[in-house]
Amino acid sequence: MTTAAIILAAGRGTRAGGDLPKQWQALAGRPVVAHALAAFAGMPRILVIHPDDRARAAAVAEGVQLVEGGATRDASVRNALEALAGQGVSRVLIHDGARPLVSGAVIGRVLAGLDDHPAAAPALVVSDALWTGVQGLVTGTRDRTGLYRAQTPQGFHFDAILDAHRRHGGGAADDVEVARAAGLDVAIVEGEEDNLKLTFPGDFARAEAILKGRGMDIRLGNGFDVHAFCEGDHVWLCGVKVPHSRGLLGHSDADVGMHALTDAIYGALADGDIGRHFPPSDPQWKGAESHIFLRHAAELARARGFAISNCDVTLICERPKIGPHAEAMREALAAIMALEVGRISVKATTSERLGFTGREEGIAAIATATLVKL
Ligand code: MG
Repeated sequence: MTTAAIILAAGRGTRAGGDLPKQWQALAGRPVVAHALAAFAGMPRILVIHPDDRARAAAVAEGVQLVEGGATRDASVRNALEALAGQGVSRVLIHDGARPLVSGAVIGRVLAGLDDHPAAAPALVVSDALWTGVQGLVTGTRDRTGLYRAQTPQGFHFDAILDAHRRHGGGAADDVEVARAAGLDVAIVEGEEDNLKLTFPGDFARAEAILKGRGMDIRLGNGFDVHAFCEGDHVWLCGVKVPHSRGLLGHSDADVGMHALTDAIYGALADGDIGRHFPPSDPQWKGAESHIFLRHAAELARARGFAISNCDVTLICERPKIGPHAEAMREALAAIMALEVGRISVKATTSERLGFTGREEGIAAIATATLVKL
């Protein structure tokens, strides 16, 4: 399951003041849109730009696909969705490039919403009283019951939103409107006040103050696991079924590499290990497949506001040979964690015929994961 992010930065809005469109103005020393891109680091990303901004975009969008926007917001989104079509993307997050402070927690809540709904988007309940006014005078009040302030990223099952955009007549305010026009249920998840959309000159000072208060938090975790060989004709390693003259003993698929990586992420969060989150004594986890554990750890990291910056797994065994399967393993782990393959390493070593791995009694794995909160 691959999740991609589309960042919209093709607008020409200059209400924020200055000569440049607001998403290209500097915030804490780098363009607003660079902050927005960083929030989705680890996912395949598309930046939708105005043709005039191509040089600017190239400077901030290393490893990011650039797509030119259309005449309207929905045409821009449509261009990006079409560019992703056929690439195996199952979920997509569509984000406004002028919201640079979106947190991993908000992104995590939108992704969690997509587990049960075809669409999910963050919003805040309106708490202020609402007035109408003309020429500086109050002319009436409005009932705020049931009103929300919509934010982004808005998340969708990919095929559903692509189909909805292809059928939509145009002119929608946002992608939730497109989704609803196609009959999709849209779950509301909690947004954040700090996820503000830079619109007016004063918004930049407020955003810089928020960034100053955040700092950067980098976490490193490690994991180690061992499983013994048993009768069998294959082993599961990092999500890939590898033919072998033995099997691996353990609950479910006994995927020693995925267990080590899962523990590395829990370790970076200082939040126990697989056994704590999925007790083997609990019958509901007996025989559970390992991707459930890894996906939980990755989602927990996002829910706490961390991006997974990179992962490194080393499998220790004499046989089977890992090299021919390493690329497939990287791709399998990337899909489970909604990360780009370039952030995941899978490699192997023997123990020079020494010790239990050398005697081919079992396979060991060590893993490291780096988490970053901007
Ligand atoms: Mg294990």
